[in-house]
Amino acid sequence: MLGIRASHTGESVGMENSRFTKEISVTLDLARKAAAATERIRENGIQASRKQDHTPVTQADIVSQAIILSGLRRHFPNDRIEAEEAISSDGRNALAMSAGEALRDLGYDHESRNLAQVVNDRGNPEGRRIWMIDPIDGTKGFERGLSYAVAIGLYFDGRPRFGCMAAPAFPGEDGGEKTTIIAYAGRGEGAYWLEAGRDRVEPLRVSDVRDISRMRLVGSRAHDMDDICGKFVDRAGIQQLIRMDGQTKYLMLALGRADVYIRSADPYFGIAYPWDHCTGQIILEEAGGRVTDLDGKLIDYEPPPGRPITNLDGLVASNAGCHEEILDFLGDIA
Ligand SMILES: [Mg+2]
Repeated sequence: MLGIRASHTGESVGMENSRFTKEISVTLDLARKAAAATERIRENGIQASRKQDHTPVTQADIVSQAIILSGLRRHFPNDRIEAEEAISSDGRNALAMSAGEALRDLGYDHESRNLAQVVNDRGNPEGRRIWMIDPIDGTKGFERGLSYAVAIGLYFDGRPRFGCMAAPAFPGEDGGEKTTIIAYAGRGEGAYWLEAGRDRVEPLRVSDVRDISRMRLVGSRAHDMDDICGKFVDRAGIQQLIRMDGQTKYLMLALGRADVYIRSADPYFGIAYPWDHCTGQIILEEAGGRVTDLDGKLIDYEPPPGRPITNLDGLVASNAGCHEEILDFLGDIA
C-alpha cells in the first residue's frame, strides 16, 4: 500500500507521489471536520426548512458548506466553486442564524461572523478547475437518522478528476455497526477508503458480479420516477434492491457491496446537479466502475451555472462487468 503522512492528521493516506497530494490532505481534513459538525448537529437537534424548489435544507447543510468553502478558499484560491447552498446576503433568516450559532459553538468564529460571504463564495470566476460541493447529499436521509454524503469533487478538462466523500452513519457490512467512512480518488491513481478515526487505508474495488440476475441493485430513496428500479428488478429477476440517499450509492458500488445503480431523469431536475454526481463518479470509476446515461453517454458537468443536468435520460452506474448489457436491458423497459 502506498501511503503518505498527512501532517495535520498524522495518519497515512493512499496515493504517494500523487498529483493530488495537496487535494488529498486538504479535503480529507475538510470532509472529516464537516461530517463531525453535521453529526454533532444531528445529535443536538436539526432545524429544517424548504427551499424554493421544495427540497429540504437544514442549518447543518449551511454549516458544512461554510467549513468546506472556507478551507477551499484558503488552500485553492485560484479555483472556481459550484456549491449547493446559498443564503441571503444579510444572513438573517432563521436557518442562517442557527447555522451561525452552531459554527460559533464549534469554534469556527471566522465562518460564523462572515457566514453569507463564506457560504456564497464561488471562488475565482476565471478558474480552470471547479470544485463541486454538496455539503449534505441526502438531506432527507440526514433528517431521518440515515447515512448521507459530504461530497467534495473536483472537475477540470471535461471530467471529474478528484473526489473526497465522507459518509457518516454508513451501514456496516452484514448489518454491522454504522460508522463514518471516508473515500477518495484521483483520476488514474485509484480509489481508497478509511474509517474515520482509524489509520488503515484500503483500496476500493468494485465487485466482479457479471450475471445481471445476481446483481445487487441500489436505487434512490427519494428519486425514482416511473419506478425504473422496480421494473428493472422485475424484468431482470434481481433479488436485492437497496435504497440509499445521495452519493452513498456510488460508495456502495465502489466498496463492492452493490453492483448496479440506476436512476431515471426527472422532467425538471434531470439527474440533478453536477455536485450530486462529481465526487461519486470519480470514486466509482477509480474503483473500476463505469457511469453513463441510459444510452451510454457521459455526464455533462457543465450545464448553465446553477442549473441541473437535464440533457440525459437517466443514469446507470455499474461495476463495469456488463454495463452494455444493462443498457440494452434498460432500453427495453425505460
Ligand atoms: Mg445537499
